[in-house]
Amino acid sequence: MSGELSIKGLNVSYGPVEALHDVSFDVPGGQIAALVGSNGAGKSTVLKSICGLVTPTDGTISVGGETVGPRPGDALKRGVAMSPEGRRLFARLSVEENLQMGAYTISDAKASREMLERVYGYFPRLRERHRQMAGSLSGGEQQMAAIGRALMAQPKLLLLDEPSLGIAPIIVAELGKIITEINRDLGMTVLLVEQNANMALSLAETGIVLETGQVTMTGTGRELLDSPAIRSAYLGI
Ligand code: ATP
Repeated sequence: MSGELSIKGLNVSYGPVEALHDVSFDVPGGQIAALVGSNGAGKSTVLKSICGLVTPTDGTISVGGETVGPRPGDALKRGVAMSPEGRRLFARLSVEENLQMGAYTISDAKASREMLERVYGYFPRLRERHRQMAGSLSGGEQQMAAIGRALMAQPKLLLLDEPSLGIAPIIVAELGKIITEINRDLGMTVLLVEQNANMALSLAETGIVLETGQVTMTGTGRELLDSPAIRSAYLGI
């Protein structure tokens, strides 16, 4: 599975508002990368650009060496799946139906059953609640279901938008461990967007800092965690 991500010279505007300016970074295949930055820095816009949900005015995005065009279906064809901020589950469908929706492009039923078992292995709580309506899950459980649904597409590149948002600290730590396991077991490249810079950079081999639409720093997760500028701006130290 080779899901390396390469972004070059990306510019995105929402009408007169320039959200991304000349954003370039690479994530080697099989790595966990963390994209961190404060509110409105443009993190979600990077993910939406990769998924074809916004159209860049300039720049290129490639996954596994192949260019991803600015249409929503394109990213899926190239093996990209996203767990969006706010989870966006189908509230009136069961947990298992939501998970199965993630596999709608997978024609191999056996592979889908195996992935469902894996998802239940990572998130036993979802197995226990597989018949429950997704809308009645707790915030943390909905987050697990959203990640599980993205995994069901068997992506090469998994995009996670703010998985720790609104989740109890103890579950954030558990989630971090599971993201590391998924990356290790499945060899999937993971791009993790987080305001929780500490959690994200602790997991990541590559860290990218975005400020007002521009990349201001890149390094290993460790280097960024140790950087005085990052410590005072994002870690409150
Ligand atoms: P947060 O952590 O708060 O979710 P973010 O880093 O993900 O922020 P984005 O959501 O990418 O930031 O937003 C980047 C900038 O683009 C912000 O100034 C935001 O107000 C603006 N923006 C985002 N979406 C739209 C839109 N649909 N229309 C107009 N402006 C937008």
